[in-house]
Amino acid sequence: MQRGGARGTARDIPSATVGRLITYLRVLNGLEARGVERVSSDLLADEAHVSAFQVRKDLAYFGTFGTRGTGYTVSSLKGELKRILGLTRPWRVAIVGMGRLGQALADYPGLSEYDFDLVAAFDVDERKVGQRHGGVVVRHMGELGAAVAELGLEIVLLTVPVGAAQAAVDAVVAAGVRGILNFAPTVVSVPEGVKVEPVDFLAALKRVSYFLHEGALVEDRG
Ligand code: NAD
Repeated sequence: MQRGGARGTARDIPSATVGRLITYLRVLNGLEARGVERVSSDLLADEAHVSAFQVRKDLAYFGTFGTRGTGYTVSSLKGELKRILGLTRPWRVAIVGMGRLGQALADYPGLSEYDFDLVAAFDVDERKVGQRHGGVVVRHMGELGAAVAELGLEIVLLTVPVGAAQAAVDAVVAAGVRGILNFAPTVVSVPEGVKVEPVDFLAALKRVSYFLHEGALVEDRG
């Protein structure tokens, strides 16, 4: 028997745990696509590259799932994780900054595949206004407030230059958006109740560089 519901919300749990829940959901999607109906914590752990203890600890944050010995039903656990992660309905997303990165993100089909509906795009450059990318027509930043009310925008992908990031964030927050994915490599300030998540592939590259360099140092020493 599949037991239990969630004990709490995802609000207070460590971000590393949230990151692993997202990984578990990806693994479950893959298992479901392969026709697998049940999964043990050992298999889930294996595919997510963590320990089975970690899987059980992460899921215990939200109550008891699954049955001792027989593991979890893939579809039920997937449903629970989607509920915990707020992925049971599409989110209305806009891009602010329709340069190279903004245009590439707008054209990426994965957004809607994962229930993030791109419904608007904004730029300050008059030459970009009116262009169509990924099914949306670029609007001027001056229309942001009205568009948030009209379209119910909830999340902004921020792809403006570093020097424009804080002003753009201020405009986004003033318009009533509470979720921002910040691609500009700079720290921005937001009031309480607004979530900014930084995305920085160059920082990730530096971690790879550190790993390779550190390996070379260990070999040098050895
Ligand atoms: P870009 O110059 O091609 O595009 C930036 C766009 O933002 C332009 O169209 C510009 O008119 C617009 N803009 C400027 N100020 C604005 C404002 N206040 N409001 C709305 N739009 C505004 O730059 P790009 O190469 O697309 O890079 C965009 C940002 O993403 C940069 O900060 C860059 O460093 C960053 N970046 C991040 C990653 C990552 O992994 N996170 C990868 C590549 C680039």
